[in-house]
Amino acid sequence: MQESIPPETSPSNPAQEPFDLGSCTLDSGDHDTPFSNALRQLDEAAAVIGLDPAVLELLRWPMRELHVTMPVRMDDGKTRIFHGFRVQYNDARGPNKGGIRFHPEETIDTVRALAAWMTWKTAVLDIPLGGGKGGVVCDPKSMSTGELERLSRSYIRQVGRILGIEKDVPAPDVYTTPQIMAWMADEYSFMQGYNDFGVTTGKPVAIGGSLGRGDATARGGIICIREAARTLGIDLHGATAAINGYGNAGSFAHKLSVELLGMKVVAVSDSRGGIFNADGLDHAAVTEYKQRTGSVTGFPGSKPLTNGDLLELDVTALIPAALEGEISCRNASKIRARIVAELANGPTTPDADQVLRKKGIYMIPDLLCNAGGVTVSYFEMVQNTSGWYWEEEAVHRQLEKKMTAAFKAVHETALRHDVGNRVAAMIVAVRRVEEAIRLRGWV
Ligand code: GLU
Repeated sequence: MQESIPPETSPSNPAQEPFDLGSCTLDSGDHDTPFSNALRQLDEAAAVIGLDPAVLELLRWPMRELHVTMPVRMDDGKTRIFHGFRVQYNDARGPNKGGIRFHPEETIDTVRALAAWMTWKTAVLDIPLGGGKGGVVCDPKSMSTGELERLSRSYIRQVGRILGIEKDVPAPDVYTTPQIMAWMADEYSFMQGYNDFGVTTGKPVAIGGSLGRGDATARGGIICIREAARTLGIDLHGATAAINGYGNAGSFAHKLSVELLGMKVVAVSDSRGGIFNADGLDHAAVTEYKQRTGSVTGFPGSKPLTNGDLLELDVTALIPAALEGEISCRNASKIRARIVAELANGPTTPDADQVLRKKGIYMIPDLLCNAGGVTVSYFEMVQNTSGWYWEEEAVHRQLEKKMTAAFKAVHETALRHDVGNRVAAMIVAVRRVEEAIRLRGWV
């Protein structure tokens, strides 16, 4: 039987000043969709820099999207019909790039937002790619390995015609894995008639994956937290972190914040709930426990807490690493972290973002914070094209260079325009995409 959190650390009992929420009320941003949030972010950056209206109008729309229907034979012999999407948001700077999500609540609106964010993300990191995203409406947790393989292959048979290393390259995202990327690359190779593994990234190393891709999203985020702490004059050694979401990004963020920064991870959570230990949670032990039981909840020696409580903990770094909209007007005023490092895509709604800024919380926006994944995906594309595979140390070195340069660009832009880091990242991105659009003569 587990105890509950003692009152002095309980977020339900925080000693906080009343806070002016401005327009961020319970009824405000929470009803917006991910894509309307993405457009608000774009409009805000466009207003600061006085973006040409024609360029803005172009950037407010996905350039191309494909909706597909897939019959899949299930293990019980029956056929189920699945639906999926691939959105190619903007490829002015290079081939579209972005993950595929398998999720029961996937919608075209979410995939559009995620594809837009990929366009900005690749531009912030200054890698020569555009932005795309895919999604399949399914519940992977209730499907067998065989069913997942047949669904993955079916998706590629439908969407493969608009994919390819010169056109659009998917990667893992929520509930998709290196194994799924391998099945997809295999199916595509048979469609082409030759091995064309460069159609996906995040593949297993044995079939053209890159060393260092597994922990790349988290590693990039950790580099950003390190740079933010330098900027703020915070010593991270022994400082606390809380991580919401324990998939690939969240779990590696736990490992690397301890190993590389000497931090203490006091709370982590997954979709079933969270765990807390003021002395710090051991990554290897939590990972082994989750693999064995399917969740972090009930981890021996920890106290239970909800995902909501985790977000409101008084920690140095809060790392949302799950889904969109976790920090909204419902909880923004109660966030107490010094730094919010967005490893998830779109975890903070635009209204909540303003509240965090007013509270003086240092935001490392998703476009920058989680861009390590797509950056090493780009390195994987380079390796697939050249046929020359890098050592892990070379991947880490190049990632370090890209992340610190992007951090600097965002930080300097924020100071120059007196805006938050998210608007600054959008400004860096939009300027770079605009330059490509102009050079290509589109506007
Ligand atoms: N799904 C990851 C993201 O949202 C990685 C995308 C990629 O590697 O293409 O950034």
